[in-house]
Amino acid sequence: MTDTTNSPAPRYPGLPQPPAVGSSALQPGTFDGVTVFVTGGGTGLGKGIALEFARLGANIVIASRKPEHLDAGLEALQSMGAPCVAVQCDIRDQDSIVAAFDEATKAFAMPTVLINNAAANFPVPAEDMSPNAWRTVVDITLTGTFLCSREFARRHMAAGTPGSIINVGASYAWTGGPGFAHSAAAKAGVKNLVETLAVEWGPYGIQVNGLVPGLFPHEDMTSDIKGNLGNLNDKDDRQPAMRVGQRQELGWAATFLASPYAQFISGHTLVVDGANWQ
Ligand code: NAP
Repeated sequence: MTDTTNSPAPRYPGLPQPPAVGSSALQPGTFDGVTVFVTGGGTGLGKGIALEFARLGANIVIASRKPEHLDAGLEALQSMGAPCVAVQCDIRDQDSIVAAFDEATKAFAMPTVLINNAAANFPVPAEDMSPNAWRTVVDITLTGTFLCSREFARRHMAAGTPGSIINVGASYAWTGGPGFAHSAAAKAGVKNLVETLAVEWGPYGIQVNGLVPGLFPHEDMTSDIKGNLGNLNDKDDRQPAMRVGQRQELGWAATFLASPYAQFISGHTLVVDGANWQ
């Protein structure tokens, strides 16, 4: 047996690991009866965020294009007994968004939380980027976020009810992202939109914030994004935190921002990345 009593403490232990999945700083039932609409909620981080809202009692609507993604999201939510529906939706298309919000409202009630999580991304050197590649990413990431936000806000303004929007961003909105000119520019727009919409819609009771994940590897990442990240270990010594993010950490931040305890926070973008972007 190895004697560890005299082992020196690691020089760079990094930021501590989070509490286990299933725990939360918010009280159980915080989102009871609240409908939360998550774009891209069938995969990756969107699914992680949806699960944290579900754990706190929310009715979940996940919206995206591909049935296999929606099915995977539903399966995860149903396995924890969450009330949930999946609606097919392309966030570039206004009619599709209207239909998805109608379906969500019919299934539960008008969504009071909107998580604009869906985005598109693939690495391409800027000089080789086709107009179509540029347009596709900007249309999904920036225009889609705007169109979903507008539909959500219009419905709340008409009903005179409050709501909360969270736009999932990326830190290359500030730093730029070599190889990701389309996505970095689109995310810069998404961050800017948070600030504009928070001011325009605050008087109507609509809170708008941004949430920026750092490195959160997950099983649904496309192979080119995974390849770009290289071999990430759980303890990643290329980051100040000496580790990558765990999905529940992003979900906790999202549930806090949409909770009654964060209602005076609006127009803010919260970065959850262990200081990596610095
Ligand atoms: P992901 O697994 O690639 O998920 C993207 C989701 O968006 C998919 O569910 C996809 O579903 C949906 N989507 C794409 N185009 C759509 C469209 N036109 N209409 C509706 N839905 C659409 O991405 P992720 O890694 O979980 O990232 C989630 C968010 O976090 C994104 O905003 C991303 O930029 C941001 N982010 C992630 C990381 C990370 O480390 N993972 C880091 C920084 C920022 P369908 O294909 O079914 O439509």
